[in-house]
Amino acid sequence: MDRETADNLIKLFQGKLNEAMRFYLETCTRCGVCTKACHVYASMGHIKYIAAYRHEIVRRIYKKYFKRRGKLWPSVGEAKELTDIALEELYEAAYSCTGCRRCMVYCPFGIDTQMLMSIAKLLLIGANAEPEILTMLADTSIEKGKSMEVFKEGFLAGVKNLEAEVVKKWKIEAEENPIPVEVEGADLLYVALAGAHSIIPAAAVFNAAGENWTLSFFEAVNFGAFVGDPTKTKLILDRIINEAKGLKVKEVCICECGTAYRVMKQLSGSQPFKVSSITEVHARYLREDRIRVDKLKFKEGITYHDPCQIARNGGVFDEPRFILQYLTDDFREMSPDPRYNWCCGGGGGLVALGEDTLDFRMKSSKVKVSQVKETGATILATACENCHTQLSNLNDHYQMGVEVKFLSSMVADALVQ
Ligand code: SF4
Ligand code: SF4
Repeated sequence: MDRETADNLIKLFQGKLNEAMRFYLETCTRCGVCTKACHVYASMGHIKYIAAYRHEIVRRIYKKYFKRRGKLWPSVGEAKELTDIALEELYEAAYSCTGCRRCMVYCPFGIDTQMLMSIAKLLLIGANAEPEILTMLADTSIEKGKSMEVFKEGFLAGVKNLEAEVVKKWKIEAEENPIPVEVEGADLLYVALAGAHSIIPAAAVFNAAGENWTLSFFEAVNFGAFVGDPTKTKLILDRIINEAKGLKVKEVCICECGTAYRVMKQLSGSQPFKVSSITEVHARYLREDRIRVDKLKFKEGITYHDPCQIARNGGVFDEPRFILQYLTDDFREMSPDPRYNWCCGGGGGLVALGEDTLDFRMKSSKVKVSQVKETGATILATACENCHTQLSNLNDHYQMGVEVKFLSSMVADALVQ
């Protein structure tokens, strides 16, 4: 690595050094409590996948450039120079971590691995060593935000096609405007993912509840967050914030995408609208008797996988369980309990990297497979696209014999008059 690149990377590192980050970098006592907390280590058993080991990859660079001892006596100060080999280690640490924060719940100091890995990801971006596809996807999202008019015609035509499907399956709920768009003054802006599965069932439930809603022009997913680029994360987020403000909505409802929900909830700042996940909105409709569902629709035992970004990192634990009370008398909670739930193994951009990470995702998630199997349930519900893809891959690979379903689709399928 040339001197100029190293200097630039050190500046990027410095920009991440707020009070919380310094605490995480300075505090580890190497107590080892986090060792078995990581699903990757628990499934594969390699030391390099222990949370504290991942931290150390970043911490040693910190010591080299930001601590006196590390600067003067690198070997005594456990310091490490930023080299090409160091970058490879950063890549291995960051892109084998799903940012699930299970280790953080166990750590007595609450050291946040996801935050420490955000330094690793930023340094990789600075060195042009991040997964290129994630940056390309983030750039595409940003471009769409800049040139809405170019994409608008195709978007509206796509929505028209989907409307026919909403009417076909949920004729009564659909009414005159099955998928409203650009409704100024709507109460709720729904931000979906690209694809009918994220729009059609949601539209059915909104219409059944008599919601005054409108569909966002943008996809919820934030590839800027996956690749760890704060600037791109914000640009992608701002598209939705500006749209919500322009339409003067009271609520922004994020579809079943864990990262999109966490980013909107935690990074959008103070706004004139509230942020909800679709799970929270569906629980509200049931509580207020705005929708009714048929409890006999699903006859098999149902278990629920808490998406890390929605539950442990977003605080939505009770609502899915509230919904499931209406859908079944045979709900089977996984063990350990939701706060300590095993990650599905697909977060942090790993699912978005597709086939390239498939082998690792399968090997690193054996504990998740056991956790699901122990429930004996044959329906595995979840509320995140990433988790759904990863759990479906696990289901195929390990022949788990479950049907992986989106919770929101289950609500839509069970709707009754
Ligand atoms: S955040 Fe999750 S994947 Fe990353 S080290 Fe901690 S437990 Fe492992
Ligand atoms: S539990 Fe916390 S303090 Fe203990 S080794 Fe892990 S990161 Fe360090």
